[in-house]
Amino acid sequence: MGGIKPGGRRLRAGDSNRWREFELIEWLRRRVTLRPATAEMGIGDDAAVARPAANALELTTCDALVENVHWSFAWCDASSLGKKAVAVNLSDIAAMGGIPQRAFMTLAIPKHFKKKDLLRLTRAVIDSLEKHHVLLAGGDTVLSSGPMFLALTIQGKVPPKEVIGRGGARPGDVLLVTGTLGAAAAALACIKRFGFIPRELSGLKRKLLTPEPRLHAGRLLARAGGVHAMIDLSDGLAGDARRLAQASQVGVYIDTTSLPVSAATRLCARRLNVKGWELALRGGEDYELLFAAPAKKATGLVKLLRQRAGVPCCVVGKVVSAREGLRQILPGGRSAALSDSWEHGG
Ligand code: ADP
Ligand code: MG
Repeated sequence: MGGIKPGGRRLRAGDSNRWREFELIEWLRRRVTLRPATAEMGIGDDAAVARPAANALELTTCDALVENVHWSFAWCDASSLGKKAVAVNLSDIAAMGGIPQRAFMTLAIPKHFKKKDLLRLTRAVIDSLEKHHVLLAGGDTVLSSGPMFLALTIQGKVPPKEVIGRGGARPGDVLLVTGTLGAAAAALACIKRFGFIPRELSGLKRKLLTPEPRLHAGRLLARAGGVHAMIDLSDGLAGDARRLAQASQVGVYIDTTSLPVSAATRLCARRLNVKGWELALRGGEDYELLFAAPAKKATGLVKLLRQRAGVPCCVVGKVVSAREGLRQILPGGRSAALSDSWEHGG
């Protein structure tokens, strides 16, 4: 590890404001409260050691966040960044119907990054992981000569009969989404347009900074059976529905009049002079689940998620044959080619 000298003392917020790799790793090791299972090993050795789960498939996912590409410290504090990094990774495990188990964190840190913020960031990562019973089992820490870089790898498991991919949607299925859509995109558009988010819309900022991964909902759907395909919404409903359709070799119709949009998002949309449904259709970073299931199962699944997870869910479209293509049904009943870009929409 070039450039950073190991230091002897433990890292405390009161120490000089520069961070050292050795101290950071020791701090991480002490901060982790979950214990690896017998004969397994977490932070501190040359590699983590884990026993493959019995009767389960293993899931692995990575997601990286780069400063000034995926966030800016102008609008995202260090603690929110840590929570968000965990949420976007756990969301991918949720979308497979899986149970997350352990995480690995790669950090590239600019030399002058404040130690106080580094501790806030890593504390948020560990706390968010442990809230979901996920062990921080290792990682790597390097110096960055440019922006900060934060990458997580999450391993998890899923019973073989319960894994849900993107590729199983069939004509005749309906498409459902959890939660509401467009809030994160509304918040980001507000920040870009006005430089801040009006106080009455601060709930939108929470959706952007600290989305809640839909792990419980994902597990309920996996166990319920009958869900043919699932994906989490990171790039926007239109784009992610397209990916699900391509993986399943089907077409999809999205009904823009049925998209779940909160009152705050609608208010924000009016200020931005766009339609609420456009934010819901094309805005990204919702981290909700989009899934395909037979029409006759939809009511039961909606009820299951509401009753067992308190998660709202609604039908937003249907799966058709590949020949029928990818379309969006517009207010008034007209339809147009499904568009994921802001330029050619509607
Ligand atoms: P090596 O030089 O052998 O790669 P390191 O000094 O990079 O080892 O890491 C020592 C231990 O600390 C390892 O167990 C590694 O997994 C862990 N570790 C290093 N950086 C991080 C990090 N950012 N998050 C979690 N664990 C880390
Ligand atoms: Mg290393």
